[in-house]
Amino acid sequence: MNNYEIVMGLEVHIELATRRKIFCRCKNTFAEAANTNVCPVCLGLPGALPVLNPEALSCAVRMGLALQGEINRNSRFDRKNYFYPDNATAYQITQFYEPILKGGQVEVQTENGETKVIRIHEMHMEDDAGKLTHDPEMQVSLVDFNRKGVPLLEIVTEPDFRNADEVIAFLEKIRMFALYLGISDGKLHEGSMRADVNLSLRKEGEETLGVRTEMKNLNSFASIRHAIAYEAERQAQVLNAGGRIRFETRRFDETSGTTKVMRTKEEVMDYRYFPEPDLLPVHLPEEYIRKMEEQMPEFPQAKGARYRREFGLTEEEAQILTRHPATASLFEETLQLWQAGKAGGPNTSDGNEGCSEGTEMKRRAKAVAARMCGDLMYLCREKKADPGQWKITPEALAELMQMQEAGAITAKTARDIFARMFDKNIEPMVYVNENHLLITKDEGALEAAVDAVLKTQEKSVSDYLSGKEKAAGHLLGCVMKETNGQADPAQARQLLLKKLAERKAGETT
Ligand code: ADP
Ligand code: MG
Ligand code: ZN
Repeated sequence: MNNYEIVMGLEVHIELATRRKIFCRCKNTFAEAANTNVCPVCLGLPGALPVLNPEALSCAVRMGLALQGEINRNSRFDRKNYFYPDNATAYQITQFYEPILKGGQVEVQTENGETKVIRIHEMHMEDDAGKLTHDPEMQVSLVDFNRKGVPLLEIVTEPDFRNADEVIAFLEKIRMFALYLGISDGKLHEGSMRADVNLSLRKEGEETLGVRTEMKNLNSFASIRHAIAYEAERQAQVLNAGGRIRFETRRFDETSGTTKVMRTKEEVMDYRYFPEPDLLPVHLPEEYIRKMEEQMPEFPQAKGARYRREFGLTEEEAQILTRHPATASLFEETLQLWQAGKAGGPNTSDGNEGCSEGTEMKRRAKAVAARMCGDLMYLCREKKADPGQWKITPEALAELMQMQEAGAITAKTARDIFARMFDKNIEPMVYVNENHLLITKDEGALEAAVDAVLKTQEKSVSDYLSGKEKAAGHLLGCVMKETNGQADPAQARQLLLKKLAERKAGETT
């Protein structure tokens, strides 16, 4: 690999999660019985006419705005002619001459913390093909047209990538855009986002580009890394041996970790593109673009900066909370409900005299952030769940936070309930009442619990009395357990220490 520079460009396909397909009224769903969502248009029956789905158009324009390119006010569709059994029309409807987006740029953070700009060449809309399943046992190939006509966006970059980290940072950014725009879940392993990597080598310092190969079938970030490493090494060996790279499409094989020739691209394939005669050109009035601009969400960078400014969160907290829109909205909505006093449970805010609303909000924001960045992220990892795949509602979380703040439940109770809320619909107040978890101020009960613990935990008591102060923590835990978590920990601690001091005094006299 020495003295070669890797040059890469990407073609990224994003499957849009519109309700209907791009050119017909068929439902756009995933994993349904084969050939149930089909109609004359997507089956390519003669005489059927396509009509552009406005929802798909709006997804494309908003993604175009996120990519900061020039939205084409007059884009068109073209036919790309080729035969394949999963494509009954024998052509794909795509945009070749006048794509919806020209140019653009995406900033990515590189490993060393610098910002690099990746230029976008263009983005176009097109329809997806069906799916072929090969059954070697029965010696048949089955075709499912449910996916035929699912709307796709194809983003084509300039050859601006120099290493795998940049490629992955870019794909993560595109996925983030898709998630925040609500246009796709961007899952590589389910095919809702697919990336082809074009890769060539050139001698360090050289200006002209080398001959590239295109790699397909990359359905995880790990595959992308492996494929890039393997293909760069392969090309270097060919060049070092005095050979030349063939312009070809290669398929990455997960099991062997190698790329294999799929088809040669030696002569540019003749798709005989021509304007699609069945669809009108897409004219976008300024009014429409403005409307789309107004619908743009606040993306993580801006959102994170606002969290730091308005709520005093740390950089790390802001990053964790904004990485996924489901996390950000749970945070914002919880805080909003809590602040608006809509959370159930005893209210404390009027008892906070001398504490301005701003400080109270910051304190609460910190508390919600702490719960989410700690427990919630831990639970997601533990349960291998994506953000949003939880049953926690802002209403329930606000109620829980409120009860804890008001001193109605202990921190431990709050954490236990929160963990349960992850996959069960729990109303914290109801749950606390049913399970008798409210902190009681009943001093008689507390004293009885402390006495009981002092009696049963002889070892810890003598440890404490002989100077091992840490033993008090264990004893306090026992007291809390004895009271079923209903004691006020501060009160319990005070009483416990008082009783221990009395014993000590008794012993020395
Ligand atoms: P095609 O449609 O045949 O795949 P494009 O011209 O649309 O070809 O280019 C596809 C991708 O390949 C783009 O992302 C582009 O940046 C990238 N690319 C083009 N030439 C090279 C090269 N020599 N080395 C690496 N990437 C390249
Ligand atoms: Mg290509
Ligand atoms: Zn259809």
